[in-house]
Amino acid sequence: KVFFVFDLKGKIKMAGREKGLIQRIKNKTIKKMAQDLLPVSRHEKEIIRTVAKNQVVLIVGATGSGKTTQVPQFMLELKREQVGKSTQVICTQPRQVAATSVAERVAKEMNCSLGSTVGYQIRFERKASDNTELMYVTEGILVRWILSPEHANFKGFSIVIVDEAHERTVNTDILMALLKKRIQMSKDSNNKDMPFFRAVIMSATMDKNRFQSYFPGNPDVVDIPGRVYPVARNFLSEPVQDYVKTAAEIAYGIHSSLGNESGDILIFLTGSQEIDDCIRHIDDLKRGSQSPRELLAIKFHSHIANAKQDVFRKALSSQRKCVVATNIAETSLTIDGIVYVIDCGMSKQKLYDEAKHVDALEIRPISKASVKQRVGRAGRTKPGMSFHLYPLKNYEMLENENQPEILRVSMIYETLCMLALGIENPLEFDYIDPPSETTVARAVNMLFHLKAIDDKGKLTKEGKHLTDFPLDPRLSKALLAASKYGVVNEVLSIAAMLEIHEKLSGRSDSKDNNSDDDDNNGDDDNDNDGNGYGRRYKKGPSQNRPKNPMKIYKHCDGDHLTLLNIFNAYKHKHFQESGYYRDPNVGHLERADKIRGRLEFALLRILPEIKTSDQCDYKSRHYYPNILKALLSGYFLNVATYGYADKYWTFRLASLNDKHKVVEFLDRAKPHRSSVFGGNKVQRRPWVFFHEVVVQQTVFLRILSAIQPKWLLEVAPDYFNVEQLARDKSSVASILRDLRNASS
Ligand code: ADP
Ligand code: MG
Repeated sequence: KVFFVFDLKGKIKMAGREKGLIQRIKNKTIKKMAQDLLPVSRHEKEIIRTVAKNQVVLIVGATGSGKTTQVPQFMLELKREQVGKSTQVICTQPRQVAATSVAERVAKEMNCSLGSTVGYQIRFERKASDNTELMYVTEGILVRWILSPEHANFKGFSIVIVDEAHERTVNTDILMALLKKRIQMSKDSNNKDMPFFRAVIMSATMDKNRFQSYFPGNPDVVDIPGRVYPVARNFLSEPVQDYVKTAAEIAYGIHSSLGNESGDILIFLTGSQEIDDCIRHIDDLKRGSQSPRELLAIKFHSHIANAKQDVFRKALSSQRKCVVATNIAETSLTIDGIVYVIDCGMSKQKLYDEAKHVDALEIRPISKASVKQRVGRAGRTKPGMSFHLYPLKNYEMLENENQPEILRVSMIYETLCMLALGIENPLEFDYIDPPSETTVARAVNMLFHLKAIDDKGKLTKEGKHLTDFPLDPRLSKALLAASKYGVVNEVLSIAAMLEIHEKLSGRSDSKDNNSDDDDNNGDDDNDNDGNGYGRRYKKGPSQNRPKNPMKIYKHCDGDHLTLLNIFNAYKHKHFQESGYYRDPNVGHLERADKIRGRLEFALLRILPEIKTSDQCDYKSRHYYPNILKALLSGYFLNVATYGYADKYWTFRLASLNDKHKVVEFLDRAKPHRSSVFGGNKVQRRPWVFFHEVVVQQTVFLRILSAIQPKWLLEVAPDYFNVEQLARDKSSVASILRDLRNASS
């Protein structure tokens, strides 16, 4: 048979007898129907025309209007018209799941395989080819690209779309500043010698005026009116004590009152502990009653390995899906079938404590913009309803916009990036909301102690290397130090294991968990989602349950060496032999192994002189201390000491010490439950270093290892010598003075 295929402009494109043709016609029709319904598609011409004429364009359109999936396709068309096939259109997303799942959807709409014309890249994962013209990437990836000479000043990219700009992550703000610089360059050179370049900034809820006044020449705004389907909002009359339980009750209430009617539910909570509790409540409610449908509760946070498949899979007609998520599901995603949204009004947020000089994570109320995004997850494929677990008057008291993250972090890494970009005075960098001068001065001071800059504030060779690795600069620093101690292989393995650490799952063998504890971290909300490895673990007889590898392979000196033990056990096939072959952790460990390979490759490319074979003998008594010293070289700013006067585990954060004594008392904290030091019956160690602080009812330290205080003097003699505290205080003041003088 002969079929006629019409392209979207209605012209006959080809006729033939090909295999798969019917499917393709069907796909095209589906795409066309989808586009016809979407508000953005009605503005296609206007959007393309506006971007063709202006260097910066803001697109504001209600959630579900088609920004994320359609606008990049329009831009692809414009780019092809203007420059042909050689360059790329980039669309950024604040979160990894969004980048990958939207790329998948768009590839389907464009009828191509993922990785051909449309691709994506997130940390440690890339699906793209030489022919890729439209890339969905996380914001962090784009910042990293701009730092590399290959893409300096956005070389190779013709149109950059920053999606969900209202999120105001640190990377959103850095990208805005970089885009502004790039646009200024085109303006200065009168558009003559600069190639075609456009910036498009999109959001459902952004503060238009703020972005408009930031960019030169008052950029044009395209307003897309109307959401696709209405969503009715409901608030509680009184505040509730336990929003986790209330969320479960409301979800169950919706489920039972719907009977056999369809409609899935999405619940927003703050972390994996709350999600587990909520699902337990739902299970309890289910037990007592009968419904024509089964209520299927699905977790969705960044540590769940194959969440994506389960979350997006259509429920059976005998089931109702109830996705219980962190704010990982807040933006960009369309989960088909969601009609009801339940919002607890809180999320876990990064917070920089000026007084304690630590980055911490805290559960705090969200902004109105976030509420709007959460509500917008319903009403995308049919009308919906939202239930907010707080009174309307509390809603009215919420901030309008997310507070820019840049005002809530220590800025150490960001300042390093600025210096690597050749910006000499970090105070002069043109952020939308500049961080406080003291924060910047302190960051400069820390970079000096990390030897990333010299005493003139110039980037050192080592400092440049720190930005070359796709890792936290403290961990990069540890990797660089590892060669000195002959433990490069070990630190590579640990660095890779840290990437999957939170995902290691298992039954906890100890009974001494604290109820105010939480095995969670802020990566839920950020950029650290895993991707489909491993299997979801189902309840079964206890011998089939996964054991917690942190307990089985525990090393008495702490979490880092325990992670190394786990990795080595996996490499030596212990997992398989001990019957853990079907352990879900094996999938994560495979991923760690892959990441390790990439890190090793990067290390050898940057420092070809490093010999990974030049190893400290593992039988030597210096072996474990050497590994810990290498790590401490990166983390010496995060040191805590244990107070023996206290009856239970307590840590004091020592920002500085005078030889072996704590000079400045800062705060009390406990080791986190996920740590091997986290139980009550664990041996107390007087000194540790840690990765991060999590603030809940109690302050927790995550990922720690024991050290000897004299190592501090070995790895950072300048920082820890006598009277450095006073000197540091005055040096922050003098840095500030210098920076101010330089910029005036
Ligand atoms: P916006 O970015 O403006 O919020 P999107 O481009 O993400 O909108 O999605 C627009 C619409 O496209 C959605 O409301 C939905 O109807 C449809 N859509 C997008 N992705 C999917 C998907 N994975 N499955 C089903 N429908 C989808
Ligand atoms: Mg979107």
